[in-house]
Amino acid sequence: MKILVINCGSSSLKFQLIDSETEEVFAKGLCERIGMDGSQIVYTPAGGEKQTTVSPMPDHTEAVRLVLAALTDAKTGVIKDLSEIDAVGHRLVHGGEKFSASTLINDEVIAAITECNDLAPLHNPANLIGIAACQKLMPTTPQAGVFDTAFHQTMPEKAYLYGIPYEYYQKYKIRRYGFHGTSHSYVSKRCAAIAGKDIKDMKIIVCHLGNGASVSAVQGGKCVDTSMGLTPLEGLIMGTRSGDIDPAIIEFLAHKEGLSIDEIMTILNKKSGMLGLSTISSDSRDIEGASNEGKPEGKRTMEAFSYRVAKYIGAYAAAMNGVDAICFTAGIGENSATIRSMICNNYLGYLGVKLDEDANHKRGEEIAITTADSKTTVYVIPTNEELAIARETAALVK
Ligand code: AMP
Repeated sequence: MKILVINCGSSSLKFQLIDSETEEVFAKGLCERIGMDGSQIVYTPAGGEKQTTVSPMPDHTEAVRLVLAALTDAKTGVIKDLSEIDAVGHRLVHGGEKFSASTLINDEVIAAITECNDLAPLHNPANLIGIAACQKLMPTTPQAGVFDTAFHQTMPEKAYLYGIPYEYYQKYKIRRYGFHGTSHSYVSKRCAAIAGKDIKDMKIIVCHLGNGASVSAVQGGKCVDTSMGLTPLEGLIMGTRSGDIDPAIIEFLAHKEGLSIDEIMTILNKKSGMLGLSTISSDSRDIEGASNEGKPEGKRTMEAFSYRVAKYIGAYAAAMNGVDAICFTAGIGENSATIRSMICNNYLGYLGVKLDEDANHKRGEEIAITTADSKTTVYVIPTNEELAIARETAALVK
């Protein structure tokens, strides 16, 4: 089936047209600066040149219209007619407690997603605008929603409750939700397939280390804990997000620096993490470069980042009373041999992890990076959220 995968942000829209069975990507691209000056669409057909076209996009409907025009363009398009698109799969950020699985979109589902807007005020409204734009331009094409939070809905109460008055959970649904669920689900399934085992018999820890980063514990194919929380701010040190901090820091900073809550949240979301700690960059390549040059700002950031990942691996090995496999994925997890080596060699000896240095330096493939006699196997598994969304969508439409 040909599935159009849409990932709609407040001013951007990423897309891929994918064959859900063969995994072939027919075309992909990105609309940027929607609703602003200088908006443009970047479109790359499979095997063709990347094209960038500056074009006014006052709203997401216009962005979707341009995407569909590019896909059906007589010269560089990859389909003749929109009827060739079997379904649209939307990446949706927050499904709250309502969605523990992907779903076909109808009015009831839209109302339920809208109810979750409070939980993801930056993302959910943008996702809904993307759905509305597709419905307007492709009224007869089925649409599905694949939630970042859904895979984590299997967490037990003891993992998702915070130690705050229970009434706040009852009143406002304040709890751990977790994100990157599509990636954690995809990678844990691939891990079991590569290991040649039934996922029901496995305890897997997935480390999704990208600009946003999270770890999850997957036991018997179900998520039992994850590091992101009510929002994607909790957990690991990320590109610009702080991850775990003592909540009292917020009050301390407010008094010392005369900052409002909003200003502090901006600092924690946009100016912290690798960027804040290093003072040089949110990009791990820059940090690693600085560390290689012996700069303390690079070294301390690499160490704090890898230490935090190792602490979560330890926590989740405890949560599952053991671990069979640890998977690294996303930009840093797939590409940084140094970070993987720091985590495995410095902290995972007690799990019997023995890194295979040659394998650890390979790139771009699904691979075990531990030796044959390693007690716990560590894998690098490139994530593919778009393919996972396409497959989920195809399964719903069939
Ligand atoms: P993502 O959010 O998954 O796209 O990951 C983005 C992060 O991956 C950034 O911090 C990048 O620096 C990092 N990254 C991407 N490519 C590489 C690479 N070749 N080596 C090290 N880090 C990389």
